[in-house]
Amino acid sequence: MSEARIPYALDPQGRPVYIYRAEHKLNYYTCIECGSYLDPRQGEVNIWYFAHEKLDPASKECPLRTKEGLEDLLQRFRISPVEKSESNKQIRLVLSPNPYTKTIRLFGILPVLRWEDLTNPGEVKDVLNSLTFQGEGIISPLQSRIFHPSEPEAKVELDPNADKYELTIDTQNPRYKSLYLIENWTTEPISVKDVFFGESNRAERRSSNSRFRNGDTLFIVQKEDFQEKIEGCENLVMSPWKILKFEVNDKNRIIVNRFIEVSADTDNFYVDIILPSYATPNSESPISGKPESKALIAVTPPQERDPEFEIVSVPLGKENKILPRNGNGVPRIFCPRFPIEGSRRLSVHWGNEHRMINLHAESEKKTFQKPWIEDVELGLELRTEGKRKLLNPWSIEGAISIELVKIKENRIDLNLIGPEEFKIDVKGFFSEKSDYRGLICMWDTSLEKAESILNSWIKEDCKRIILDYDSLGIIELDIQQPKPWQKKLPDSEIENILSNLDKIPKKAGWSIVRKVYGVPLETSHDELPDGVKKQVRRALMKVRRKNEGH
Ligand SMILES: [Zn+2]
Repeated sequence: MSEARIPYALDPQGRPVYIYRAEHKLNYYTCIECGSYLDPRQGEVNIWYFAHEKLDPASKECPLRTKEGLEDLLQRFRISPVEKSESNKQIRLVLSPNPYTKTIRLFGILPVLRWEDLTNPGEVKDVLNSLTFQGEGIISPLQSRIFHPSEPEAKVELDPNADKYELTIDTQNPRYKSLYLIENWTTEPISVKDVFFGESNRAERRSSNSRFRNGDTLFIVQKEDFQEKIEGCENLVMSPWKILKFEVNDKNRIIVNRFIEVSADTDNFYVDIILPSYATPNSESPISGKPESKALIAVTPPQERDPEFEIVSVPLGKENKILPRNGNGVPRIFCPRFPIEGSRRLSVHWGNEHRMINLHAESEKKTFQKPWIEDVELGLELRTEGKRKLLNPWSIEGAISIELVKIKENRIDLNLIGPEEFKIDVKGFFSEKSDYRGLICMWDTSLEKAESILNSWIKEDCKRIILDYDSLGIIELDIQQPKPWQKKLPDSEIENILSNLDKIPKKAGWSIVRKVYGVPLETSHDELPDGVKKQVRRALMKVRRKNEGH
């Protein structure tokens, strides 16, 4: 008989544990279904799993011994914590710190109306107008428009001092009674040692068995200010509570462990939002983007692991996507699209851990107000004879040749293009002959200033200029000094050259001009300065007249 390969078990505290997070302990983990002991099987090669102990008769009839029972278990773990809390009608709690006043506001997060629950878009107004609210612990009266389906989520300000949070949403129209929003929503009040996790401007309350990693920002609720010194720690106020805010690192992990079970280790997986570039990489708050545009997400497994990740929708739908194995600790990427309207919520999950991503379609109007998100131009613009070329720091390889003569004669225009607040470093390498000599660096320079530095350095005989755009790359300019034949010779020198020729020519044709200026064979005489032919002809006439006079 083949063993059922069970990926999840319960620890003695009754918390679910994924096999890849399990310690190798016998008579320790128990079956979620039948309660008998499960042994972790963690071989070198095979996929790891829990198995019922063979001698335990109680497990004989366990549903996890069947394919259907096992599939049902897997399905339960695909459901993200956010979906679970919403289906339990729980209000999610988030903190919103104000960095200037060191105070914090508390908000409850609720889902909004879903387009798919409405029979037609015109119904939205009807539904919203029919809603009624009754609540406890809520600071200001609710507006029904916060539940509009084009919003990413509904945010309700809460009183941190309340001992009860309750919001009853009802409708005056019986037709809408079955909408999932029409319910009694609640959550536990704030208490000492509550832990919020997130970014410096938004953090969500987490259960005590969450996992954290170095660099994560935590907020811990307390009655009094924390007296011990933690480096980089801030004491904030959310009256009547004191909130300790800090970033987890190797040094303070011991202190963190007093509040919450922290397994900050190399065994976590990371989900980073790479595109859109304006999104905070590890953000769990909604990201706004152009409808149907693509985002780019990287999922990095723990260093020593090469698991498959699953991307599921929130709430769980029929579609899910597997990110295949790619090597230990090697990132995998995928490109979800922003929806046409409303929000698309996805969860990346591995075992019983989930990371939610909320892609929110900006309405047309909002997109119109912020076109810079889509069309930002950045780089060095070259203008020559009405032609325009934009060089981006991330897409050029090697140095760009710029001819000094063309700059001096204004035949080429160099402009630095980019957002007003953007700053770059400018580095110039000067020849020993120039007044500057050697390397000059200008750090953190605005584009406007950098542009004028760039143009003046080129004219000061700078040989090489590097425009440093930090992580975006560099643009390197190689300044080509004029070739000898590109400088106009004085009339006297031309007359000298002509008189010293073996035979004084009769006519000043191009071959004579080229000879006088020393233009190499393979070079076009277009490179010669303007008016040289006339100049040579004049000089030749003078030389011939002088010769005849002798
Ligand atoms: Zn069992």
